[in-house]
Amino acid sequence: MLTFQSIQSDLLFDAQHIWHPYTSLTTPLPTYPVVSAAGTKLKLACGTELVDGMASWWSAIHGYNHPRLNQALADQASQMSHVMFGGISHPPAVHLARKLLAMAPEPLETVFFADSGSIAVEVAIKMALQFQASRGLPAKSKLLTIRQGYHGDTFAAMAVCDPVNGMHGLFQGVLPQHLFAPAPELTPNDEWDNSELDAMQQLLEQHANSIAAIILEPMVQGAGGMRFYHKNYLAGVRRLADEYDVLLIADEIATGFGRTGELFACNHAGISPDIMCVGKALTGGYMTLAATLATRHVATTISNGEAGVLMHGPTFMANPLACAVAYESLSLIEEGSWRADVARIEQQLINELAPCRAYNSVADVRVFGAIGVIEMVASVDVAKAQAFFVAQGVWIRPFGKLIYIMPPYICNQDDIKQLTTAMQAYCLLE
Ligand code: PMP
Repeated sequence: MLTFQSIQSDLLFDAQHIWHPYTSLTTPLPTYPVVSAAGTKLKLACGTELVDGMASWWSAIHGYNHPRLNQALADQASQMSHVMFGGISHPPAVHLARKLLAMAPEPLETVFFADSGSIAVEVAIKMALQFQASRGLPAKSKLLTIRQGYHGDTFAAMAVCDPVNGMHGLFQGVLPQHLFAPAPELTPNDEWDNSELDAMQQLLEQHANSIAAIILEPMVQGAGGMRFYHKNYLAGVRRLADEYDVLLIADEIATGFGRTGELFACNHAGISPDIMCVGKALTGGYMTLAATLATRHVATTISNGEAGVLMHGPTFMANPLACAVAYESLSLIEEGSWRADVARIEQQLINELAPCRAYNSVADVRVFGAIGVIEMVASVDVAKAQAFFVAQGVWIRPFGKLIYIMPPYICNQDDIKQLTTAMQAYCLLE
C-alpha cells in the first residue's frame, strides 16, 4: 500500500541511489512519482492526473494502458517471454519483420532487431563500415552528418551528434572524428534554394573516398535542437549520396510511425535510405525495441565480404515480448486514424501556439506534424518549469531553451488545449 511516508521514503532513496537521464546524483533535479498511466494521462502518487505532452519521449503514440497492447503482451508472456535469437527463430520476430518491411520504404528488405535506438544506430554504422570494407573500400570509414543532430548516447552514436550540443567536449580524444556539414536552414515551408546543399556537396567532393555513409534525422532534428528542415534538402542528400557512392542512413527513431504526418519522415521527400533505424514508437512505448533496416544490396555485400557475417548479436535480440507488442502497435497504426489524428493535432498546435510569437520571452514557435516547439530567448529552468506545468495538470519536460510537446496521437482537443494553454501561460510568466 502506498502511503505518504512510503512515497517520501522511495523518493529519497531514488535521489540518493538512482541515476536519472542526464542528471547529477549530488544535486538531482526533482522527480515526480508516477503510479499509473492510462490513455493520455499520467497519474501521480498524490492522485493528480497530468495530460502527457511527451508521449514518454516520442514513444507512447497510442496512449497508455492500451487494451490491445496489454493483451498482446499477456498472450506472449504466457507462451514465451524470451529466448535467445542465435540459432532460433520465433513467430513474434517473423510476424513483426514482415509487417515492418511492408510499411517501410520499398528497397528496405532486411531487419536487424536491436535493443534500443542507440544500438540500432551502432548497428547501422557497423553495417555501413562492413559494407564498404566488403566491397574492397576499407578507406571509406568516416561518417558525414549535419550539425544539430542527435543519434543516441553510445560512443559511435555520440560521435555523430552535434559537436557543440553533443558530448564531444566531454569525450574529446575518445570519439572518432567525423565530418559535419552545417545544419540546413530552410524550414519545410520556405521557398527552396539549391545552394542549401552546397556545403554538403563540397564535403563529399573533398572526402568521398573516406566516407562510408551520410547519417541524418530526416526532416526533424530532434534532441539536437527540435529543428524542422526542407524536404528538398533530404531529397538532395539522397541524390548526392548516390552521386558520390556513399550510403544514406536515415535515423527515423524519433520520426518513424506517423509523428511528422507521414508514416516515415523520408516519405515527405519520396526517398528511401539504404539503411534506416526505427525505435521509440515501434512498441507503442511499451518496452525497448529498435530495428535497423537495410536494402538487399547492403545485406548481401556484407554477407559476401571477408567477415561473411554482420558482427553484432545482443542477448535480448528480437525479444518476443517486445516483438509481440510491436506487432500489435503496427496493427493499430495500419487500422487506425493516425494520419487524421496527426493532421488534427498539427492544426490545433499551429492555431494555439501562434499567439506565443508575440511574447518577449519567445524567440520562435514552430510546428511540424504532431510536434509543437516554443524556443525561448533564455534557457529554461527545468525544475521551475516542471513544477509550473505539473501545477497546470500537464507533463512537459523542457530542455535548453526549448519547451516542446509531441503528445500521444489519441489526445483529444481538450488534452491539446490544456497543453498549449500551459505552454502559453509559462511564456507569459517569463
Ligand atoms: N536517434 C534519435 C533521432 C533519437 O531521438 C534517439 C532518442 N532520443 C536515439 C537515436 C536514441 O534512442 P535510445 O534512447 O532508444 O537509445
